[in-house]
Amino acid sequence: MTKKDIIIIGGGASGIICAIKAKDTNPDKTVAILEKQNRIGRKLLSTGNGRCNLFNLDADDVEKYSGSFKNNLSALFKKCSVVKLGEEFSKLGLVTYCDSENRVYPYSNHAGTVLDILRFRLIELGIDVICDTKVTSIEKKDVFIVKTEEKKFSCDKLVISTGSPASPKLGSDNSGINLLEMLGHKIEPLSPALCPLKVKDNTIMPSIKGVRQKGSVALFDGDEFIKSENGEIQFTENSLSGICIFNLSVKIKSLKNPIISLNISPYNENYGQLLHVLKINAQRFKNREILRFLDGMFINKLGIAILKCSGIKKLNDPIFTLKKEDIENICDTIYDWKFKVEKPTSFDKAQVCSGGVNGLEIEPKTMESKKIKDLYICGEAVDIVGDCGGFNLNFAFSSGIIAGESL
Ligand SMILES: Cc1cc2nc3c(=O)[nH]c(=O)nc-3n(C[C@H](O)[C@H](O)[C@H](O)COP(=O)(O)OP(=O)(O)OC[C@H]3O[C@@H](n4cnc5c(N)ncnc54)[C@H](O)[C@@H]3O)c2cc1C
Repeated sequence: MTKKDIIIIGGGASGIICAIKAKDTNPDKTVAILEKQNRIGRKLLSTGNGRCNLFNLDADDVEKYSGSFKNNLSALFKKCSVVKLGEEFSKLGLVTYCDSENRVYPYSNHAGTVLDILRFRLIELGIDVICDTKVTSIEKKDVFIVKTEEKKFSCDKLVISTGSPASPKLGSDNSGINLLEMLGHKIEPLSPALCPLKVKDNTIMPSIKGVRQKGSVALFDGDEFIKSENGEIQFTENSLSGICIFNLSVKIKSLKNPIISLNISPYNENYGQLLHVLKINAQRFKNREILRFLDGMFINKLGIAILKCSGIKKLNDPIFTLKKEDIENICDTIYDWKFKVEKPTSFDKAQVCSGGVNGLEIEPKTMESKKIKDLYICGEAVDIVGDCGGFNLNFAFSSGIIAGESL
């Protein structure tokens, strides 16, 4: 059996930074990371489309998050604010920049830079990084006994930073969450989040695959309004996608009858102005074919999809054959285009996982388990999900720093 003072299971964003802070805080103690994959930080390299959106200057706004840890966030961010996070990365030598939406990236625009500065620091501090080592069981006696597929370790203090099953192609699974459940922690149901939403009636989607359109997007449960977002909507073969859709996907797991409504009107909330413009155009271009009616507003294939969804059948007829109700229906579709969507079931396209260890079982000032002394939990294994824009890495890093400093 190999003895270490501190073991961190999972060498992702939260585990790596936790190990660095643990060694900074306890220079005389032995610290090891056990990582099941053949390298650490694999998911980190894929973040932000390879650019790594490290954190967000608005990240201390708890309304950007949902999950049972949400009520603990203020206490957590008091100990590790976004300013402190920036200073920590600066001390590690990382130069960053911030875009117009307060998203912070490495100046190199390259996730590899972030992983490199973290890896070099692990080496300098003499932290053992033990890869190809999947933890399969944990026992708490006087010390923790950590069993992997081939070896046994013991340690006085243990951190579980094993992430979530989101994006399994990057090696993710729920083995870490299972370990936490075996240790007696309550696990809130796991479901994919920050992902595209599959449309139930898929007849129109293939024709607009690849189209991107600015607009506002609202999520309803039947008639009940849940949340809205603005941004670029992306239409795929069978789904609605884009950051605004991703952010709504977080709310969907508890809904019975999820419906997405798109308002892609150039006049935003002003229905009257939209109707007025459509009526004028119907007069002005009355001899054109109906399939050209929306050409000045949308790219043609999106315009045709809107016309079809408004019940217009004879698209080659002249525009003057459109009735008053037809124009009102077209206006309604542009202003309030409804799509019944499915609850996501696969983690394949999910950036994160909603669910995880119940937030009430963790002390936010230390990230120590309230159930098991000397056990710390950080990162995505905790039941908390942030919006797109750096909020999830922000939580992974902040919670990792707090755990590391508390060890
Ligand atoms: C494609 C993609 C893009 C993203 N982009 C962004 C972004 O730009 N900004 C942002 O804020 N968030 C982004 N996210 C989310 C963000 O990457 C995660 O929230 C974050 O990585 C979570 O960190 P973590 O340390 O908890 O888990 P991870 O980074 O997933 O690390 C967990 C580690 O634990 C290891 N592990 C798991 N089980 C075991 C076990 N039993 N034994 C040993 N090791 C184990 C895993 O192999 C893994 O290396 C993105 C996610 C994806 C999938």
